[in-house]
Amino acid sequence: MLQKVLIANRGEIALRITRACRTLGIKTVGIYSDADKDLMHLRFCDEAVCIGPGASSESYLNIPAIITAAEITGADAIHPGYGFLSENAEFAEIVENSGFIFIGPRPEHIRLMGNKVSAIMAMRKAGVPTVPGSAHAVTTNNALAEAKEIGFPLIVKAASGGGGRGMRIVERVDTLLESVQAAQRDAEMWFGDDTVYMERFLQKPRHVEVQVLADGNGHAIHLFDRDCSLQRRHQKVLEEAPAPGLPEQARAEILEACVNACKMMQYRGAGTFEFLFEDDEFFFIEMNTRVQVEHPVTEMVTGIDIIEQQLLIAGGLGLNIQQEDVICKGHSMECRINAEDPTNFMPSPGKIEHFYAPGGAGIRLDSHIYQGYSIPPYYDSMIAKLIAHGKDRDTCIARMKQALEEIILTGIKTNIPLHKDLILEDKNFCEKAMDIHYLEKHLLKQIEGNEDK
Ligand code: ADP
Repeated sequence: MLQKVLIANRGEIALRITRACRTLGIKTVGIYSDADKDLMHLRFCDEAVCIGPGASSESYLNIPAIITAAEITGADAIHPGYGFLSENAEFAEIVENSGFIFIGPRPEHIRLMGNKVSAIMAMRKAGVPTVPGSAHAVTTNNALAEAKEIGFPLIVKAASGGGGRGMRIVERVDTLLESVQAAQRDAEMWFGDDTVYMERFLQKPRHVEVQVLADGNGHAIHLFDRDCSLQRRHQKVLEEAPAPGLPEQARAEILEACVNACKMMQYRGAGTFEFLFEDDEFFFIEMNTRVQVEHPVTEMVTGIDIIEQQLLIAGGLGLNIQQEDVICKGHSMECRINAEDPTNFMPSPGKIEHFYAPGGAGIRLDSHIYQGYSIPPYYDSMIAKLIAHGKDRDTCIARMKQALEEIILTGIKTNIPLHKDLILEDKNFCEKAMDIHYLEKHLLKQIEGNEDK
């Protein structure tokens, strides 16, 4: 069993990991930047080490500083959380080569999935359905022939891409070559790798993903699915589990395909297979080799503590859950609460004047904020995750609405009105899941419309 875990992250996920460690009797080391000495989880960690100035590049992305912190505190393992270094294969390798346990997959799997072309190839081999497309590098030499196979519209994407950057939709053949060149330039600029590939552009898909856990020795299970279609600029805003209205046959097949892929790879730890879902068909787009922001909705419907399982697997205790023991009960939703102006989405850091956390049956708040806490300007604007659970989707929505009414959060601007007044009041959303363009194309237009008046 792990003895002492260094948490290489900040904010709500650092607190979430601290809680899981303490529950298991594992000692914790918190790290923090100069701008973060007031983080809530540091109050519960056994030790805390300042690793550098506010800018992430000098602190939470500073590999030598993090390894040194682990060495001087005698930690035996490092949990990367999400974001920052969590999907950096080189970091995972350095952690292991320095004699620590990396709480996550083997570096080779992080690397395999970090390149979308190699990820797609691996998925095809494992029998996971992918988007019709090239699955190899495309240049101006072969683009035309590839495009004929795929058809239009198609999308050119960076092999090393992330964060929704550098993608180009191509409607017609006459703009193909210039789009490939532009995508190559973007890919080089953002990711230092100009490899691009092409696939069919799906017009109105939903984003559906599958959560898995695996022990690294061929035992793997799924924890069902989530729908994360409500997005702005490819960033998830609200997530739910299970994905509403999936045909049972298609669901069963995709869950099984993901589990089989994990078994084949001998994958280790938690992971998420992301798909676009259109016309009752699944198309793999990428795999995230870490815990996801939205993992609580899966925890609420399955009763399984995903971070605890990560710690047990990393500690060599295996995965002592069988597939038939995983039952999906009721429905859960998560609203991401961001410190941002709800009318223009500009970040709104600053001091929290008043804070009251909602509660009651089926309500969970994962957050590190408290009254008097100052949100620093350096990091992601997400400050809380409000999670509701109910026996069905309608009950879950009703509880979430009540919780959003109750919450008091003043001193900064937040996107609470977006959840409370727009999304959860929207008849279409309340009736069923929507496609990935719905939030931007329909709901956010209402805000813009108001601004015009
Ligand atoms: P990233 O790693 O940059 O987030 P993804 O491959 O996960 O890139 O795609 C991000 C988003 O881009 C998807 O959630 C979807 O909204 C859109 N997208 C990606 N591929 C396609 C496609 N083939 N057709 C339609 N939309 C796509």
